[in-house]
Amino acid sequence: MNLTEYTAKRKFEKTPEPQPGAVQEAPRLTFVIHKHAARALHYDLRLELGGVLKSWAVPKGPTLDPVVKRLAVRVEDHPLEYRDFEGVIPEGNYGAGSVIIWDRGFYHHPLAGDEQDNEQRLVNGLRKGDLKFILEGEKLRGEFALVKTGKDDKSWLLLKKKDRFATTGDILAENRSVITHKTLEEELEDVTQKSFRQKKVHQIRLHETLESDGLHDAPLALMPHAIVPMLAATVKVPFNDPEWLFEVKWDGYRAVAEIREGRVSFYSRNGISFEKKFSPVVDSLRKFDFEAVLDGEVVVVDDQGRPDFEQLQNYPKSGSGHLIYYVFDLLYFKGHDLTGLPLFRRKELLKNILPSLPKIRFSDHVKNEGVLFFHAAAQKGLEGIIAKQALSIYEAGKRSGNWLKIKSRLTQDAVISGFTEPKGGRRHFGTLVLGVFQEGELVYIGLSGGGFGAQELQQIREKLNPLIQIKCPFDVVPETGSPTTWVKPELVCEVGLTGWTGEGVMRHPVFLRLREDKSAGEVARDTISEGGSP
Ligand code: MN
Repeated sequence: MNLTEYTAKRKFEKTPEPQPGAVQEAPRLTFVIHKHAARALHYDLRLELGGVLKSWAVPKGPTLDPVVKRLAVRVEDHPLEYRDFEGVIPEGNYGAGSVIIWDRGFYHHPLAGDEQDNEQRLVNGLRKGDLKFILEGEKLRGEFALVKTGKDDKSWLLLKKKDRFATTGDILAENRSVITHKTLEEELEDVTQKSFRQKKVHQIRLHETLESDGLHDAPLALMPHAIVPMLAATVKVPFNDPEWLFEVKWDGYRAVAEIREGRVSFYSRNGISFEKKFSPVVDSLRKFDFEAVLDGEVVVVDDQGRPDFEQLQNYPKSGSGHLIYYVFDLLYFKGHDLTGLPLFRRKELLKNILPSLPKIRFSDHVKNEGVLFFHAAAQKGLEGIIAKQALSIYEAGKRSGNWLKIKSRLTQDAVISGFTEPKGGRRHFGTLVLGVFQEGELVYIGLSGGGFGAQELQQIREKLNPLIQIKCPFDVVPETGSPTTWVKPELVCEVGLTGWTGEGVMRHPVFLRLREDKSAGEVARDTISEGGSP
């Protein structure tokens, strides 16, 4: 048989693949299946016949399920030496990427008599385009067939015949070499070219995620859009619980990304587009080579990794700090709706498929150890932690008891409902009159007169001027102690506080910042359960 094509495609001074030579044929015919992370990840079935390896590339890999037919593309004959090859074909070469020996063993025709008869039957089968054979591998056993489908020699189907080795189980889950026990990913460990290695590792993880059972549990669906993210309730005290996992509470803007083949929607919890404001994140999201919906938080962090909300608000004018999109959930992936999968599975999938790109990071978690994690976060100057039930599904638009925020300091979102006249040397306003919505009704929760910078006083007053109205927005007019100007309750701010009075008014509220990413209608009193494991 002719190995000209095999030789012509390869430069043997640049690839570790074997050059054809004089190899002793084994007393019995052998087969090998390579798993190969080339431009597309695939499996190569190679059958020894006539002194060479007859070869087919099987994109989806072999199966033991007789119902399933797998496309097999006939490729050039390979030399017998190739049955021992595994390693990495370097970047720039034909088939660049890692190769493992996924399975190997002996094979024969089902009706074979002696070795000569066996070989004759196999040669006839191959020529007729209906090649039946029995594999005796470590993973694959029993009767198979390769059937030619088209007029050209390239298109074949690989089938499993019904016998005692047939099963619907997922044989591809066994993803290690039968020789070195390495995975395709582990095979890449010694590659020094970082970009090549990263690209290949991402490709392998993506492929194995698609093959995995976890994804089969997620129904096929059209990509959802305009998602209102799931929200967390508040608890006071951190807790340890083996059924919960704990993430950093990032102090930034909640953001959902919908990625469709290079087209990206990136928006806030109110559906306001972030595409212009955070275009460097969108540029990275555009490089994803698959469809997905992500949930996460956009932050600007300082050199110590601490989020800086003020720099985020001023972005991109701020100029200091690093813009990052911390991704903590995966709602949709390649045609599958994942929202019904347990959280820990979604995070596992996310970690595997999230490409390594500028501005994009996986928001990792710890299991069980909520108390330790909370104190570490507080010590680092972080806003707090989020506890999430590991088995919980994703409930879009809901504030769920399965997600809990535990803040390192007490804060409350409030709707600015009016302001009092400035006193002394103060300009623009004295205090802000604050409220929250309770069953659709605006309820007074206190006055905040501290925490403003001189510039902030002016900025806030300018934003309030167009909202001024004569009517008090509260049903019960609160006692503010000074002349008060009422405003349409639209602008949201966040205040720090030390606690609540029995009448539901904040103790010592101090202005922290405007929250222009939040709408007034969603501002409610943080209902705080007393904590402990819920
Ligand atoms: Mn190949």
